[in-house]
Amino acid sequence: QHMKIAFIGLGNMGGPMALNLHKAGHDVGAFDLSRPACDRLAADGVRIATDAGACVEGAEVVISMLPASPHVEALFLGSGQQAGLLPQLPAGTLVIDCSTIAAATSRKVADAARERGIAFIDAPVSGGTGGAIAGTLTFMVGGDAADLERARPVLEKMGANIFHAGGVGAGQTAKICNNMLLGILMAGTSEALALGVANGLDPAVLSEIMRRSSGGNWALEKYNPWPGVMPQAPASKDYAGGFGTDLMLKDLGLAQENATAVKAATPLGGLARSLYAAHSLAGHGGLDFSSILRLVRKSGA
Ligand code: NAD
Repeated sequence: QHMKIAFIGLGNMGGPMALNLHKAGHDVGAFDLSRPACDRLAADGVRIATDAGACVEGAEVVISMLPASPHVEALFLGSGQQAGLLPQLPAGTLVIDCSTIAAATSRKVADAARERGIAFIDAPVSGGTGGAIAGTLTFMVGGDAADLERARPVLEKMGANIFHAGGVGAGQTAKICNNMLLGILMAGTSEALALGVANGLDPAVLSEIMRRSSGGNWALEKYNPWPGVMPQAPASKDYAGGFGTDLMLKDLGLAQENATAVKAATPLGGLARSLYAAHSLAGHGGLDFSSILRLVRKSGA
């Protein structure tokens, strides 16, 4: 059945996700602090609220898709002068946070929600902006099974795979494991391509060889870092849009914090974090993360 849904955070991912819920016939009210982000969705017929408080009025389901932990904590629990949303939500509301944040923050917000009879699940996603647009995202859910079942019809309109990873926060843990691997694979793929091109190989031919060989991975399948190899990839659009270097850096930082807490060995994850940090400090934090290629690409290649 059609539900009244509030969607907060209309960036590279949240915008197309909210649009898919709207297209599926749900009554979607949306909000973002960025005017251009709101305008894009308004042009597609989605109702835009004046602020987050107005956005959640009367909503049965509240979805957030924000950059990082502090944004999610401030939105729901408040910060400084700004009141959080939780006290405004009636008991029985279902909150679905799709942002990639610290598992500890998910649990903090979930605990505060539970005290008010509000259900909370963490449901970070994978699949990139292409997956968000196509509605084929993978959701990694942490929370009660019953809450996931309530969320499922909504998640199914945005994604193709829905996994229950465990209790609240478990979705986040699965997500940072995945993104640590993705960060390593993108850096490694860039390095291999740069090596081949330095030897005179055509990056498109080498990409196809490796894609069909034992080095094949998601970067080569869907997100090639070499400009021009895949017309739809951010690399072919001057690394605009996509998944920001600073967001990848955040995820690699979360993975290292987690590894420290549980005394896990993550040497390649640690090295990958340092590479993306150097890339960000060089001024590329706002570019798609596949621009890590620039760190290893020979000038003129
Ligand atoms: P983005 O920076 O494009 O969008 C975030 C949006 O949140 C911005 O438009 C910003 O204005 C808005 N925002 C911030 N604080 C707000 C607030 N208090 N109220 C309303 N709006 C607010 O980021 P994105 O690429 O859409 O990523 C969102 C989350 O999803 C991040 O946690 C990221 O790590 C994760 N993620 C991204 C990708 C990707 O490919 N881009 C893939 C999987 C997961």
